[in-house]
Amino acid sequence: GEAAEHGVPLLAYDDEIRKRAERRIELERELRHAIDAEQFELFLQPKFEARSQRVTGAEALLRWRHPQLGLVSPAEFIPLLEDTGLIVPVGHWVLRRAARLVRQWRKAAVGGLRIAVNVSARELRQHGFVRQCASILEGCGGEPCLDIEITESVLMEDIAHSMRILQALRDLGFGVAIDDFGTGYSSLNYLSRLPADTLKIDQSFVAQIAQSPESLALVTNTINLAHALGLRAVAEGVEEEEQAKLLRLLRCDELQGYLLGRPLPVDEFERTFLA
Ligand code: C2E
Ligand code: MG
Ligand code: MG
Ligand code: MG
Repeated sequence: GEAAEHGVPLLAYDDEIRKRAERRIELERELRHAIDAEQFELFLQPKFEARSQRVTGAEALLRWRHPQLGLVSPAEFIPLLEDTGLIVPVGHWVLRRAARLVRQWRKAAVGGLRIAVNVSARELRQHGFVRQCASILEGCGGEPCLDIEITESVLMEDIAHSMRILQALRDLGFGVAIDDFGTGYSSLNYLSRLPADTLKIDQSFVAQIAQSPESLALVTNTINLAHALGLRAVAEGVEEEEQAKLLRLLRCDELQGYLLGRPLPVDEFERTFLA
């Protein structure tokens, strides 16, 4: 196979596969206890209105802090949660935690800040997801101030079902954002009827706008497309001042990225951005 062709000793190759399988089995076993052991944590990354630089809210990003394994990346454990179905209870926990935060902020008269929660395919397809979201909102009181982020590729997997669920969520008062936009295969036909409020331009395009004319053209046109459809445009992964400057010139509505603020534990986020 590939290993032999590249001259890698087969033994080392087998070793690598075995190690990866072992890591996966270990993580799966540990994940089953992670909820009860309260090892999950929400981090919050701020989002900013591009023009005023005001904080508009935050994206909730899940973290897994394991006593021996340390901080495990979502890139590694979200796929495992999805494969095992554990994403359903964990996703429910994330939504409830976000709803509770928004309610606390409102009580403290921190007005209008929103929290966006990422929702995976498995959650969206889960029977009773909309009902679950409705009951979470009941606990919130007042305007919901919660957004759902769903990736373009998940949306397109089963477009008819996704559109129905997203419409139902919007009817409840959730905002809907299409995440990682530009990496999937949206058809223009569906885009014009999308029950959404926001397009989040994928960070892979944002990363190159100051260097690559092609990326700049793609981002320019995505922002214009969003506006033509009556949607807001958000840029994720903004790391450099030059990128922020260009995005403001292009009338991007909101910016998110390490340049403006990294994901932070909730208390640190509150101290930094709600004071
Ligand atoms: P995403 O929703 O597209 O989130 C953006 C990712 O980019 C986050 O990675 C964030 O930390 C990272 N990021 C933010 N600003 C920058 C930047 O300026 N530069 C770079 N290089 N990266 C930046 P993170 O936290 O590792 O999350 C990865 C993915 O895991 C998320 O992508 C999302 O799809 C998924 N995820 C995270 N939390 C949850 C959750 O609670 N539920 C579900 N279903 N998925 C989640
Ligand atoms: Mg997201
Ligand atoms: Mg994204
Ligand atoms: Mg992403």
